[in-house]
Order: sequence, then structure tokens, then C-alpha cells
Amino acid sequence: MFKKIRITILLSILAVVAVSTYLQIYHVSDWKKPLFVTLYPINGDNLSSTQEYINSIAADQFHDINRFMESEAQAYGLTRRPLFLIATGKQLESQPPAPPKQQQKKLSMILWSLKLRYWLIRHAGTFGLDTRHIRIFVVYHKGEKDKALEHSYGLQKGLIGVVNAYASEKQTQQNNIVITHELLHVLGAKDKYNTNSMPVFPEGYAEPEKIPLLPQEYAEIMAGRIPETAFQSIMPSSLDLCVIGPTTASEINWSGFHK
Ligand SMILES: [Zn+2]
Repeated sequence: MFKKIRITILLSILAVVAVSTYLQIYHVSDWKKPLFVTLYPINGDNLSSTQEYINSIAADQFHDINRFMESEAQAYGLTRRPLFLIATGKQLESQPPAPPKQQQKKLSMILWSLKLRYWLIRHAGTFGLDTRHIRIFVVYHKGEKDKALEHSYGLQKGLIGVVNAYASEKQTQQNNIVITHELLHVLGAKDKYNTNSMPVFPEGYAEPEKIPLLPQEYAEIMAGRIPETAFQSIMPSSLDLCVIGPTTASEINWSGFHK
């Protein structure tokens, strides 16, 4: 009897999550209202220098993200303003659950997104079921020389992202690039680089019709890098050197706004 009640409760919760996930995906990229984005800082290595960086995060530190999105949206005829209302949430004292090792498996990613939501309700007091509200956990690390940070993720299911970022003033602009890239994943955009981290031609190129083609000057944000030669690419220094290409734009429903 007790077991049956438990299973019924669990299934009802899953049904609520499934319906709300569907509504979230449906509403998040209809561009009819501004989207809320809350960025929760987390101290990823418990160093006092990382904490000092988190304490120094200014209210306007993430404004470049909205500026970038709005100026790119303009090119696709989307003129509603503001597009995003970006806020810094309270610092969370716990680390988000680690992503699954086997990320090709859809089920393990779904389970991870459920774990993230459960973690969210325990540490931020919300289950994150509201539509048009994206939550991104920004885990700051001091970082080691020549050692890349763990991967960052943006999940459309659950409107949740986990970004690994550097706790350094010098990296603030590049952190904004990573946050924007993951935000775009949440909105439905797909990666445009290959297994060697090289932008895929033509959709991963900011200017695929440029002559000569290489070196490029800008990065397509979902490719994340500026191709310099056929085998080399560099990380852009700020969002000023990034663009949203037409493939990414159509993935996030930026089509049909031109009259
Ligand atoms: Zn990506």
C-alpha cells in the first residue's frame, strides 16, 4: 500500500516536470516577452582568492550579454526590448551534481537534468518550473596554467546551465562568451565545431563568404573560436568579436521577424 502511494507521488511529480518542461521549451524561444536569466555564482575550489573575485562581481558585469544578444537580434529583425533581464542570484554554497560520463546517452542527460533540479530546490529554494526563467550556475575556479576547465553545459530541458569560469578579472570578458554560448544552448542552439575544436564550415564561420576566407576576424558564437588557418583557431577576447550566424539564429527561432 505504502509503496503504491510512493510510486503514485513520484509519477505525479514526474508528470508535472514533464508538462512544465514542454511548456518551458515552447515559451522560452517564442520571443514574446523578456526572458529572465539568473546567474548564481559558486566558489568551485573554495579558495579565498576565488571568493574575493565572486565578492567583486559588479551588478553590470553581465550586461554585455544582453547588449550582445540585442544587437545580434537587431540583424534578424527582432526589435522587442529588453530581450533579457539578467540578474546575479545569491551565491550557492554547494557544488552542482557532476555531469554524466556517458553524455551521448539521452537518458543519462535527462537524469542529470532532474538531479540538477532537485539540487536547485535544496540550495536555491526553487524547483525551476516557471517558464521564461533560465538559471545558470557559474562555478568559478582559479584555474591552472595550460589546463582547461571542465566543460560547461546549457540544457534546454529544465532551462538550466552549468558554466565553469575563471575567477579572474582578465577572464571576465571570456567568461561572458561562455555564459552566452551556454545560454544559447538553453534556447535551442547547437554546437558548430568539430572534434578538433575547429569551427565547422560554413555554419561555424562568422563570415563564410569572406574573400580570402581565412583568417576570419570574428567567431560564430556556437563555434566559439575564430578560424585563422584551416587547422588553427583562437578564442575571441570578448563578445565584441562574436556573431550569431543564420543557422544558430534559426535554431533559436530568430526567423520571420523581418517584415
Ligand atoms: Zn556548446
